Amino acid sequence: ARTPVALLGLGAMGTALARAWLAAGHPLTVWNRTPARAEALAAEGAVVAATAADAVAAAELVVVCLLDDASVGTALADADLTGKDLVDLVTGTPSEARERARWAEGRGARFLDGGIMAVPPMIGVPDSGGYVFYSGSRALFDRHRAALEVPAGARFAGTDPGAAALHDGALLCAMYGLFAGMTHAFALVEGEDVDRAAFTSVLTEWLGAMTAVHAAGAAAGPASPLAMQVAATATLLRTTEEQGVDPGLVQPYFRLMERQLARGGDEAAGLVSLLRDRA
Ligand code: NDP
Repeated sequence: ARTPVALLGLGAMGTALARAWLAAGHPLTVWNRTPARAEALAAEGAVVAATAADAVAAAELVVVCLLDDASVGTALADADLTGKDLVDLVTGTPSEARERARWAEGRGARFLDGGIMAVPPMIGVPDSGGYVFYSGSRALFDRHRAALEVPAGARFAGTDPGAAALHDGALLCAMYGLFAGMTHAFALVEGEDVDRAAFTSVLTEWLGAMTAVHAAGAAAGPASPLAMQVAATATLLRTTEEQGVDPGLVQPYFRLMERQLARGGDEAAGLVSLLRDRA
Protein backbone atom coordinates (compact mmCIF):
# COMPACT_ATOMS: atom_id res chain seq x y z
CA ALA A 1 0.00 0.00 0.00
CA ARG A 2 1.17 3.50 -0.77
CA THR A 3 2.03 5.89 2.08
CA PRO A 4 -0.85 8.20 3.01
CA VAL A 5 0.02 11.89 2.58
CA ALA A 6 -1.51 14.97 4.20
CA LEU A 7 -0.90 18.08 2.09
CA LEU A 8 -1.51 21.62 3.31
CA GLY A 9 -1.59 24.35 0.67
CA LEU A 10 -3.23 24.06 -2.74
CA GLY A 11 -1.70 26.93 -4.64
CA ALA A 12 -0.13 26.38 -8.05
CA MET A 13 2.61 24.16 -6.61
CA GLY A 14 0.50 22.40 -3.97
CA THR A 15 -2.14 21.46 -6.55
CA ALA A 16 0.52 19.98 -8.84
CA LEU A 17 1.95 17.95 -5.93
CA ALA A 18 -1.54 16.73 -5.02
CA ARG A 19 -2.24 15.50 -8.55
CA ALA A 20 1.11 13.66 -8.66
CA TRP A 21 0.40 11.78 -5.41
CA LEU A 22 -3.17 10.97 -6.47
CA ALA A 23 -1.99 9.71 -9.85
CA ALA A 24 0.54 7.46 -8.11
CA GLY A 25 -2.16 5.97 -5.89
CA HIS A 26 -1.25 7.59 -2.55
CA PRO A 27 -4.18 8.15 -0.20
CA LEU A 28 -4.25 11.96 0.02
CA THR A 29 -5.84 14.33 2.51
CA VAL A 30 -5.70 18.01 1.55
CA TRP A 31 -6.41 21.31 3.27
CA ASN A 32 -6.40 24.83 1.88
CA ARG A 33 -7.24 28.11 3.63
CA THR A 34 -9.64 28.96 0.80
CA PRO A 35 -11.75 25.75 0.56
CA ALA A 36 -12.85 26.29 -3.07
CA ARG A 37 -9.36 25.37 -4.27
CA ALA A 38 -9.84 21.82 -2.95
CA GLU A 39 -13.04 21.08 -4.89
CA ALA A 40 -11.47 19.80 -8.10
CA LEU A 41 -9.10 17.56 -6.13
CA ALA A 42 -11.98 16.09 -4.13
CA ALA A 43 -13.52 15.01 -7.43
CA GLU A 44 -10.18 13.39 -8.31
CA GLY A 45 -10.09 11.32 -5.12
CA ALA A 46 -8.57 13.50 -2.40
CA VAL A 47 -10.14 13.66 1.06
CA VAL A 48 -10.71 17.30 2.00
CA ALA A 49 -10.06 18.18 5.65
CA ALA A 50 -12.06 21.01 7.23
CA THR A 51 -9.11 22.37 9.21
CA ALA A 52 -5.33 22.20 9.02
CA ALA A 53 -5.31 20.29 12.33
CA ASP A 54 -7.69 17.69 10.86
CA ALA A 55 -5.43 17.27 7.81
CA VAL A 56 -2.37 16.78 10.05
CA ALA A 57 -4.25 14.16 12.07
CA ALA A 58 -5.01 12.18 8.88
CA ALA A 59 -1.47 11.01 8.04
CA GLU A 60 1.97 10.47 9.54
CA LEU A 61 3.59 12.17 6.53
CA VAL A 62 2.54 15.83 6.51
CA VAL A 63 3.66 18.09 3.67
CA VAL A 64 3.21 21.86 3.74
CA CYS A 65 3.36 23.96 0.57
CA LEU A 66 2.12 27.38 1.68
CA LEU A 67 3.21 30.82 0.58
CA ASP A 68 5.91 31.57 3.15
CA ASP A 69 7.33 30.50 6.49
CA ALA A 70 5.01 32.76 8.48
CA SER A 71 1.96 31.07 6.97
CA VAL A 72 3.28 27.68 8.17
CA GLY A 73 3.34 28.91 11.78
CA THR A 74 -0.16 30.34 11.38
CA ALA A 75 -1.68 27.29 9.67
CA LEU A 76 -0.17 24.76 12.10
CA ALA A 77 -0.69 26.80 15.26
CA ASP A 78 -3.19 24.39 16.83
CA ALA A 79 -2.24 21.15 15.03
CA ASP A 80 -0.91 18.21 17.08
CA LEU A 81 2.47 17.40 15.53
CA THR A 82 3.40 14.65 17.99
CA GLY A 83 4.97 11.74 16.09
CA LYS A 84 4.49 13.43 12.71
CA ASP A 85 6.98 13.52 9.85
CA LEU A 86 6.74 17.14 8.72
CA VAL A 87 8.07 18.10 5.29
CA ASP A 88 8.20 21.85 4.67
CA LEU A 89 8.34 22.72 0.96
CA VAL A 90 7.90 26.46 1.51
CA THR A 91 10.67 28.57 0.01
CA GLY A 92 12.55 30.32 2.80
CA THR A 93 15.98 31.24 4.09
CA PRO A 94 18.40 28.81 5.76
CA SER A 95 17.83 30.39 9.18
CA GLU A 96 14.04 30.23 8.76
CA ALA A 97 14.37 26.50 8.04
CA ARG A 98 16.62 25.94 11.08
CA GLU A 99 14.20 27.84 13.31
CA ARG A 100 11.21 25.94 11.88
CA ALA A 101 13.06 22.65 12.53
CA ARG A 102 13.55 23.57 16.21
CA TRP A 103 9.89 24.60 16.40
CA ALA A 104 8.69 21.29 14.87
CA GLU A 105 11.02 19.14 16.98
CA GLY A 106 9.87 21.01 20.09
CA ARG A 107 6.35 19.87 19.22
CA GLY A 108 7.34 16.23 18.84
CA ALA A 109 7.75 16.02 15.04
CA ARG A 110 10.61 14.99 12.82
CA PHE A 111 11.40 17.74 10.29
CA LEU A 112 12.64 17.85 6.73
CA ASP A 113 12.94 21.09 4.81
CA GLY A 114 12.63 21.11 1.03
CA GLY A 115 13.66 23.50 -1.73
CA ILE A 116 11.73 22.81 -4.92
CA MET A 117 13.90 23.10 -8.03
CA ALA A 118 10.99 22.90 -10.47
CA VAL A 119 7.93 24.78 -11.66
CA PRO A 120 4.44 23.23 -11.44
CA PRO A 121 4.34 21.86 -15.04
CA MET A 122 7.46 19.77 -14.21
CA ILE A 123 5.83 18.12 -11.17
CA GLY A 124 4.87 14.47 -11.62
CA VAL A 125 6.46 14.38 -15.07
CA PRO A 126 9.20 11.72 -15.28
CA ASP A 127 12.58 13.03 -16.48
CA SER A 128 11.38 16.67 -16.42
CA GLY A 129 14.69 17.64 -14.83
CA GLY A 130 12.88 18.98 -11.78
CA TYR A 131 13.82 17.84 -8.29
CA VAL A 132 13.67 18.86 -4.64
CA PHE A 133 16.61 19.47 -2.29
CA TYR A 134 15.86 18.07 1.17
CA SER A 135 17.67 18.72 4.44
CA GLY A 136 17.16 17.93 8.10
CA SER A 137 16.07 14.52 9.35
CA ARG A 138 17.84 11.78 7.39
CA ALA A 139 15.59 9.21 9.07
CA LEU A 140 12.48 10.99 7.73
CA PHE A 141 14.01 11.25 4.26
CA ASP A 142 14.92 7.54 4.17
CA ARG A 143 11.56 6.41 5.56
CA HIS A 144 9.48 8.41 3.06
CA ARG A 145 11.82 8.50 0.10
CA ALA A 146 9.46 6.60 -2.20
CA ALA A 147 6.60 9.03 -1.54
CA LEU A 148 8.89 12.06 -1.80
CA GLU A 149 10.14 10.90 -5.20
CA VAL A 150 6.64 10.83 -6.70
CA PRO A 151 6.31 14.56 -7.56
CA ALA A 152 10.00 15.09 -8.53
CA GLY A 153 13.46 13.73 -7.88
CA ALA A 154 14.65 13.87 -4.26
CA ARG A 155 18.18 14.96 -3.34
CA PHE A 156 19.43 15.01 0.25
CA ALA A 157 21.51 18.16 0.86
CA GLY A 158 22.53 17.53 4.47
CA THR A 159 21.37 17.12 8.04
CA ASP A 160 21.61 20.88 8.69
CA PRO A 161 17.94 21.86 8.14
CA GLY A 162 19.15 25.04 6.41
CA ALA A 163 21.06 23.18 3.69
CA ALA A 164 18.15 22.79 1.26
CA ALA A 165 17.25 26.49 1.43
CA LEU A 166 20.90 27.40 0.99
CA HIS A 167 21.26 25.21 -2.11
CA ASP A 168 17.94 26.48 -3.47
CA GLY A 169 18.92 30.13 -2.92
CA ALA A 170 22.39 29.68 -4.38
CA LEU A 171 21.12 27.96 -7.53
CA LEU A 172 18.40 30.56 -8.07
CA CYS A 173 20.84 33.46 -7.61
CA ALA A 174 23.14 31.81 -10.15
CA MET A 175 20.21 31.38 -12.52
CA TYR A 176 19.22 35.04 -12.29
CA GLY A 177 22.84 36.08 -12.84
CA LEU A 178 22.81 34.02 -16.05
CA PHE A 179 19.44 35.49 -17.02
CA ALA A 180 20.93 38.96 -16.52
CA GLY A 181 23.74 38.15 -18.93
CA MET A 182 21.32 36.63 -21.45
CA THR A 183 19.07 39.69 -21.25
CA HIS A 184 22.07 41.91 -21.94
CA ALA A 185 23.06 39.74 -24.90
CA PHE A 186 19.55 39.86 -26.40
CA ALA A 187 19.53 43.65 -25.97
CA LEU A 188 22.84 43.91 -27.87
CA VAL A 189 21.49 42.06 -30.93
CA GLU A 190 17.95 43.47 -30.78
CA GLY A 191 16.97 45.29 -33.98
CA GLU A 192 20.02 43.99 -35.86
CA ASP A 193 20.06 41.50 -38.70
CA VAL A 194 20.42 38.55 -36.29
CA ASP A 195 18.13 35.54 -36.40
CA ARG A 196 16.68 35.21 -32.91
CA ALA A 197 16.36 31.41 -32.90
CA ALA A 198 19.86 30.86 -34.26
CA PHE A 199 21.27 33.38 -31.77
CA THR A 200 19.48 31.69 -28.85
CA SER A 201 21.01 28.40 -29.93
CA VAL A 202 24.60 29.69 -30.01
CA LEU A 203 24.04 31.55 -26.76
CA THR A 204 22.90 28.48 -24.79
CA GLU A 205 25.64 26.37 -26.40
CA TRP A 206 28.27 28.95 -25.36
CA LEU A 207 26.92 29.23 -21.80
CA GLY A 208 26.96 25.44 -21.44
CA ALA A 209 30.59 25.25 -22.55
CA MET A 210 31.78 28.22 -20.51
CA THR A 211 29.98 27.39 -17.26
CA ALA A 212 31.72 24.00 -17.41
CA VAL A 213 35.10 25.68 -17.94
CA HIS A 214 34.41 28.20 -15.16
CA ALA A 215 33.25 25.56 -12.68
CA ALA A 216 36.45 23.60 -13.34
CA GLY A 217 38.39 26.70 -12.23
CA ALA A 218 39.97 27.11 -15.63
CA ALA A 219 38.28 30.37 -16.67
CA ALA A 220 41.25 32.41 -15.46
CA GLY A 221 44.84 31.22 -15.16
CA PRO A 222 47.75 31.24 -17.58
CA ALA A 223 45.67 30.88 -20.75
CA SER A 224 43.29 33.74 -19.88
CA PRO A 225 44.93 35.95 -17.23
CA LEU A 226 42.67 38.35 -15.38
CA ALA A 227 44.57 41.36 -16.80
CA MET A 228 43.68 40.20 -20.33
CA GLN A 229 40.06 39.65 -19.32
CA VAL A 230 39.76 43.08 -17.70
CA ALA A 231 41.14 44.69 -20.86
CA ALA A 232 38.61 42.73 -22.91
CA THR A 233 35.70 43.90 -20.76
CA ALA A 234 36.53 47.48 -21.75
CA THR A 235 35.88 46.41 -25.35
CA LEU A 236 32.62 44.77 -24.29
CA LEU A 237 31.50 48.02 -22.67
CA ARG A 238 32.34 49.94 -25.88
CA THR A 239 30.27 47.44 -27.90
CA THR A 240 27.48 47.92 -25.36
CA GLU A 241 27.69 51.69 -25.79
CA GLU A 242 27.76 51.43 -29.61
CA GLN A 243 24.57 49.37 -29.46
CA GLY A 244 22.92 51.92 -27.18
CA VAL A 245 22.41 49.37 -24.39
CA ASP A 246 22.38 50.13 -20.65
CA PRO A 247 25.51 48.46 -19.16
CA GLY A 248 23.89 48.12 -15.73
CA LEU A 249 23.48 44.35 -15.77
CA VAL A 250 27.09 43.49 -16.65
CA GLN A 251 29.04 46.36 -15.06
CA PRO A 252 29.03 45.03 -11.45
CA TYR A 253 30.82 41.83 -12.43
CA PHE A 254 33.33 43.73 -14.58
CA ARG A 255 34.03 46.02 -11.57
CA LEU A 256 34.60 43.01 -9.35
CA MET A 257 37.19 41.66 -11.81
CA GLU A 258 38.93 45.06 -11.82
CA ARG A 259 39.06 45.14 -8.01
CA GLN A 260 40.51 41.64 -7.93
CA LEU A 261 43.16 42.64 -10.48
CA ALA A 262 43.95 45.82 -8.52
CA ARG A 263 44.69 43.83 -5.38
CA GLY A 264 47.01 41.55 -7.32
CA GLY A 265 44.82 38.48 -7.47
CA ASP A 266 44.40 36.36 -10.57
CA GLU A 267 41.93 33.66 -9.61
CA ALA A 268 38.19 33.33 -9.96
CA ALA A 269 38.09 32.16 -6.33
CA GLY A 270 39.39 35.59 -5.35
CA LEU A 271 36.15 37.13 -6.60
CA VAL A 272 34.25 35.04 -4.07
CA SER A 273 36.37 36.35 -1.21
CA LEU A 274 35.80 39.93 -2.45
CA LEU A 275 32.03 39.36 -2.34
CA ARG A 276 32.13 37.86 1.16
CA ASP A 277 34.45 40.57 2.47
CA ARG A 278 31.98 43.45 2.41
CA ALA A 279 33.74 45.69 4.95
P1 NDP B 1 0.52 30.21 -4.57
O1 NDP B 1 0.60 31.68 -4.38
O2 NDP B 1 -0.09 29.65 -5.80
O3 NDP B 1 -0.27 29.57 -3.32
C1 NDP B 1 -0.02 30.01 -2.00
C2 NDP B 1 -0.68 29.07 -1.04
O4 NDP B 1 -0.40 29.50 0.29
C3 NDP B 1 -2.21 29.02 -1.18
O5 NDP B 1 -2.62 27.70 -0.89
C4 NDP B 1 -2.64 30.00 -0.10
O6 NDP B 1 -3.95 29.74 0.37
C5 NDP B 1 -1.64 29.67 0.98
N1 NDP B 1 -1.50 30.70 1.99
C6 NDP B 1 -0.95 31.93 1.86
N2 NDP B 1 -0.94 32.59 3.03
C7 NDP B 1 -1.49 31.74 3.94
C8 NDP B 1 -1.77 31.83 5.33
N3 NDP B 1 -1.45 32.92 6.03
N4 NDP B 1 -2.34 30.77 5.94
C9 NDP B 1 -2.66 29.66 5.24
N5 NDP B 1 -2.43 29.50 3.92
C10 NDP B 1 -1.85 30.54 3.29
O7 NDP B 1 1.99 29.66 -4.34
P2 NDP B 1 2.67 28.32 -4.95
O8 NDP B 1 1.79 27.17 -4.74
O9 NDP B 1 3.19 28.60 -6.29
O10 NDP B 1 3.94 28.20 -3.98
C11 NDP B 1 3.90 27.57 -2.71
C12 NDP B 1 5.33 27.45 -2.22
O11 NDP B 1 6.08 26.70 -3.18
C13 NDP B 1 6.01 28.82 -2.06
O12 NDP B 1 6.83 28.83 -0.90
C14 NDP B 1 6.84 28.91 -3.32
O13 NDP B 1 7.99 29.72 -3.14
C15 NDP B 1 7.21 27.45 -3.53
N6 NDP B 1 7.63 27.19 -4.92
C16 NDP B 1 6.79 27.51 -5.95
C17 NDP B 1 7.23 27.36 -7.26
C18 NDP B 1 6.35 27.74 -8.41
O14 NDP B 1 6.86 27.80 -9.53
N7 NDP B 1 5.05 27.97 -8.22
C19 NDP B 1 8.59 26.86 -7.57
C20 NDP B 1 9.35 26.48 -6.41
C21 NDP B 1 8.89 26.69 -5.14
P3 NDP B 1 -5.21 30.48 -0.33
O15 NDP B 1 -5.62 29.62 -1.50
O16 NDP B 1 -6.22 30.48 0.78
O17 NDP B 1 -4.77 31.86 -0.71
